[in-house]
Amino acid sequence: MKYISTRGNAPAKNFTEILLGGLAPDGGLYLPEQYPQVTRAELEVWRKLSYAELAYAVLSKFATDIPAADLKAIVAKTYTAEVYHNARAGSDTTQITPLRTLEPGLHLLELSNGPTLAFKDMAMQLLGNLFEYALARQHDELNILGATSGDTGSAAEYAMRGKRGIRVFMLSPEGKMSAFQTAQMFSLQDPNIYNIAIRGVFDDGQDMVKAISNDHAYKEKYKIGTVNSINWARVSAQVVYYFKGYFAATQSCDEQVAFSVPSGNFGNICAGHIARMMGLPIAKLILATNENNVLEEFFQTGAYRPRTTAETAHTSSPSMDISKASNFERFIFDLVGRDAAKVRELWGRVDTGAAFDLHATEYWKRISQYGFAAGKSTHADRLNTIRMVWEKYGVMVDTHTADGIKVGLEHRAAGVPLVCLETALPVKFEDTIVEALGRKPERPAGMEDMEKLPQRCAVMDADVAALKSFIAAHVPQ
Ligand SMILES: *Cc1c(COP(=O)(O)O)cnc(C)c1O
Repeated sequence: MKYISTRGNAPAKNFTEILLGGLAPDGGLYLPEQYPQVTRAELEVWRKLSYAELAYAVLSKFATDIPAADLKAIVAKTYTAEVYHNARAGSDTTQITPLRTLEPGLHLLELSNGPTLAFKDMAMQLLGNLFEYALARQHDELNILGATSGDTGSAAEYAMRGKRGIRVFMLSPEGKMSAFQTAQMFSLQDPNIYNIAIRGVFDDGQDMVKAISNDHAYKEKYKIGTVNSINWARVSAQVVYYFKGYFAATQSCDEQVAFSVPSGNFGNICAGHIARMMGLPIAKLILATNENNVLEEFFQTGAYRPRTTAETAHTSSPSMDISKASNFERFIFDLVGRDAAKVRELWGRVDTGAAFDLHATEYWKRISQYGFAAGKSTHADRLNTIRMVWEKYGVMVDTHTADGIKVGLEHRAAGVPLVCLETALPVKFEDTIVEALGRKPERPAGMEDMEKLPQRCAVMDADVAALKSFIAAHVPQ
């Protein structure tokens, strides 16, 4: 399996060659040359597999240059109940992503039972093990530099902690994360994890990461890499749970399923699109946004209008507060018939902050064949949905999952099971849960006193030179 760039001007690569990188050298995103197809007979066999076996079956179609025994071992180590044990009482954690039925035909796919209580663990944990494996083979090292407002940073740190050949330098805005998120990250004592609190906001940290990424000499000398959501291995790991969720919600492969997906950077739902392109019987991919509705607007109107960070609202589903969706280019590449010149033209505009509108084009006529539906959810919707799900089903859901359920129910079709992806556990967003329900969410065992653990972090101004010296002082030359 070879990977090509959505912008068409980069050489085709293998899975392991793109594993440690981000963007293709021409600025595009990598996608398989062709989507592997899953036959009906294969689907029937896959239905009976454990999560780790299924992950191997799916990923072996993508990572064709990793020896089978090695990939099997990596996947087996990643998807074990010991890693994904933070479930509600009664969930079968041996399933890794247990399906919780709210009522017949309406389900929650639990993706957030991993170490940081958000679905990003599903892919990031695999990335940690793949990175360690690839770096050992190449006798190399990697220093991951990132900026986080919460979920991504903690998922990356818990995936990379203690891994040989890897260090993580994670910037976060000082005093801006919730006490729980701060404790989650800053209580890590692993010597390869460096938390750096920046006197500023999230965008200051993001700008510092960009500045260092553009300093090619520094980047090369200090082996700087990233783990953002455009990483192909992350997307491919997410394809697996669409299969798992499908099998859990159906009895036979004659049935179809709809998935509702709380969306920000289009990473999660992009994996659903790929599962569908591989032949998984998905009737609808229901995209839910919060007030930051760039993607909802596209699927309603055909116009993609990225916002500036200043136009991006801070909401109570903060992990979906995006101004442009970094993975969206992958879907558009498919929509325009994999015409890389067209993608270059469209992103030529997006990269300068401008919009594009496909409504009057031939491409828009094909949009329905991809099975998307979309809707938006506001703070008031979120509170109502959290209350409704609690009162009607006795299940507490987080704010992002609530956005997904709200929009999912609006598009529910008779006779088609609706699977709502649970992207975080409610304890991560305690304040809004208290606002909705007047009570605090339960904490997974062992996390009751997380905020009382000793914390470790460096504090610095939003100063690129200071960050460069900090990294240099901690990377042996
Ligand atoms: C990251 C995140 C999302 C958005 O996922 P994308 O892949 O960026 O679309 C939704 N909910 C939660 C809780 C997240 O952490």
